[in-house]
Amino acid sequence: MSAHKPLVIGNWKMNLDYVEAVHLGQQLGVLLKNKPVEHTDIVVVPPFVDIRSVTSIVDSEKIPVGVGAQHVSAHDNGAHTGEVSTSMLKRLNVQWILVGHSERRSMYAMTDEVVAATLRAVVKSGMNVVLCVGENLEVREDGGQNDFVADQLHSALIGLDEKFLELVTVAYEPIWAIGTGLTASSEQVGEMMAQIRSVLTTLSLGDARVLYGGSVNADNAESLMNEGEVDGFLVGGASLKAESFMSIVQSCNDCYDGKR
Ligand code: PEP
Repeated sequence: MSAHKPLVIGNWKMNLDYVEAVHLGQQLGVLLKNKPVEHTDIVVVPPFVDIRSVTSIVDSEKIPVGVGAQHVSAHDNGAHTGEVSTSMLKRLNVQWILVGHSERRSMYAMTDEVVAATLRAVVKSGMNVVLCVGENLEVREDGGQNDFVADQLHSALIGLDEKFLELVTVAYEPIWAIGTGLTASSEQVGEMMAQIRSVLTTLSLGDARVLYGGSVNADNAESLMNEGEVDGFLVGGASLKAESFMSIVQSCNDCYDGKR
């Protein structure tokens, strides 16, 4: 098991309007009140239009979760129709930003250059970045996953000023396991964790948390934590229901607390 305090992030993707998002936030608040979680950091990542409502109830009801955003512009302001800036999100108390999610890379033409520029905009604003990396099935079947992920890490992180290093978290999300119900085995995840940590060490980021994402659920979280040596999870589908998300959180908490 990893030495870091686990981090579990729920990526709500393009689901839940603001009323539904508030409801889910409140349900998480109730579950956390009934069974507090001391040994795991929790973050929820709603769609942009829900963020203000979610941060309002998190603040007013003192729910112990951070709030993130799924995307942000690399630009500060100006003629970028449809985009949202880091300062706008920071003003809403957003503390975490996903950068380079495979859905942004593949469906919205987010290149490695844009990933690197966006990552820098996020850390300069003082928010935490969750850099998403991961190979597709073709690369995995050819055995090229280690080089592929190492290239993604280098292109995003090389030359990053050391004052920003503590703001970086990495999420390994093999594309073939996202939303497919196929989970990478604990062995595959463990091998990739070791590979990512060794690349991060060469980039002075050996202390960063490295998460796994890809069809994580209440049943596989414990073995991925223990055998896969992950520092937590980026969760999509299973984060849309309070109970399933909280049982993943609880698995991390119990593993870290030595109860499992
Ligand atoms: C994700 O979108 O980051 C993700 C891991 O989704 P899922 O858990 O649904 O595979």
